[in-house]
Amino acid sequence: MKVDFHVHTSRSVDAVASPRQVVKYAKKLGLDAIAITDHNRLFPHALARQLSREFGLLVIPGMEGGNIAIRKHWIALGISRPFESLSIDTVLSFIRNEGGVSVAPHPHARLGYADYAGLGFDAVESLNGSEPQSNALVRNTRNIPETGGSDAHALPMMGYTWTLVEADGTLDGVLEAVRGGRCTPRGTTIPFLDFLRFYPLYVRHRILCEPGAALSRACRVIRDIRALGTGESPCTAVEYPWIQGEQYPSP
Ligand SMILES: [Zn+2]
Ligand SMILES: [Zn+2]
Repeated sequence: MKVDFHVHTSRSVDAVASPRQVVKYAKKLGLDAIAITDHNRLFPHALARQLSREFGLLVIPGMEGGNIAIRKHWIALGISRPFESLSIDTVLSFIRNEGGVSVAPHPHARLGYADYAGLGFDAVESLNGSEPQSNALVRNTRNIPETGGSDAHALPMMGYTWTLVEADGTLDGVLEAVRGGRCTPRGTTIPFLDFLRFYPLYVRHRILCEPGAALSRACRVIRDIRALGTGESPCTAVEYPWIQGEQYPSP
């Protein structure tokens, strides 16, 4: 089975495609399963089953925990209720007791657990579509199973990074295969231009879904531009001055 173990949907504050769009696109790409791992939000099992039936591929309920910007991330696959704790030991034992699988995503990035082996993660994400530097530093996994995931935050980021898993098509079968190490990361990191295509989609998403926040942002930018003429130092940079249409890679 081809499985992408790390995908975000619009249930994450920083991702743009709806769960339905993500699952439909994953099917079009030829993936057999995806784990939806939104930031601090467990994907509902009922919705996962419904989308699995509708699109004919396995949707694995997961979440990516840890504060999105300041605390290290962990991934839980197959747990049935969300959990958050300041202690990674508590998190890992919770996932184990729930019958889930813990994965250390992008372990050598700023927000990753480099000591995944010592901490007792079930698996390490040795191929992350967005973090080539972390991938290059994964060494001596000491027989810890390795997974690959796109870490996609928009559709153009999907389809380049996945894991080959020796399992039947069931959720339990896939989780058991990861625990047993019957999984091999495959593919590549996301090509730079496809990675960049995320940002205009993100701007558009913010404008459409959070017009109030986008308007206040625009007002701040205008204020800063006007301040330029007065010799005052602008405090807000224009982050994303371009917006483009969507074009997704063909499967
Ligand atoms: Zn992360
Ligand atoms: Zn992620």
